[in-house]
Amino acid sequence: MMLQSKQTHNQFFALTIFLLYWNQVPVTAKPLDQEIAFDYREGSEKGPEHWGELKQEWAACKDGRSQSPIGLDESRATKVIQSSRDLTVSYKPSDATLKNEGHYIALEWEGDAGSIQIDDSDYFLKRCHWHTPSEHTVNGARYDLELHMVHQSADQNNIAVVAFLYEVGQPNAFLSKINQDISFVTSTKEKKLGVIDPREIKWDSSRFYRYMGSLTTPPCTEGVIWTVNEKVDIVSREQLDLLKEAVYDYAAANARPLQRDEGRDIKLYGPSSSLSDLNAELPHRGRLNSAAIPRE
Ligand SMILES: [Zn+2]
Repeated sequence: MMLQSKQTHNQFFALTIFLLYWNQVPVTAKPLDQEIAFDYREGSEKGPEHWGELKQEWAACKDGRSQSPIGLDESRATKVIQSSRDLTVSYKPSDATLKNEGHYIALEWEGDAGSIQIDDSDYFLKRCHWHTPSEHTVNGARYDLELHMVHQSADQNNIAVVAFLYEVGQPNAFLSKINQDISFVTSTKEKKLGVIDPREIKWDSSRFYRYMGSLTTPPCTEGVIWTVNEKVDIVSREQLDLLKEAVYDYAAANARPLQRDEGRDIKLYGPSSSLSDLNAELPHRGRLNSAAIPRE
């Protein structure tokens, strides 16, 4: 009798311990102390068509004339032969924290994670985040996922975002490294990850679109230099689902609708061999306008 009671006690103790540990990694609850400031639901009062009315500081979302995202189209873009001045990358490993912002999952570097250079100006890597499906379209195609790497000038006045597009296939190597951490921030606001090397995010910037746009979330600040890489990388269905499940339900599809391009200058950079309608007689890099490349 005594033995049985002790066994029961032990079982209870084991269950308590199990519950204590299990409780630390719940996968369904969301951090609830975050106020929903805007959402992505069509027809919602806080949906994309109303962002500009929700706060005075967000007026650019409705009044802006160079908003993002936009549809990128090769036939509409000015072709430019790429040189190192157009984009160079010098990232380095640094401490990072994974954050559940409610509307997306973001990875924020705390220290110096390096920079990119565009036209001799430095833009320092601050954070990256994911949108599902893609926000930009390329030649009319919308992809499954878009990664934004957000950079700021040293004086913090200028922003440059580099975007990567993904479609469903094999698992994405970088996301595989933080799969478990993404599950973890489903129920907590953030998790410190230690050192994360941004160079592990695969880059292929052999051809990219460049245009001036805005942040795609409120306050929709304009003056953002956009670089959208044309090469499409892969992500698994499971990884995609993980990113969608981690954010709030209202943001499971967190792509802002396409904005008017307002005749903006859109350039497509690449090696001369890849720009098919490039005029071979032009001696140097430069704008390659012709009747075949309509502008505006
Ligand atoms: Zn973004």
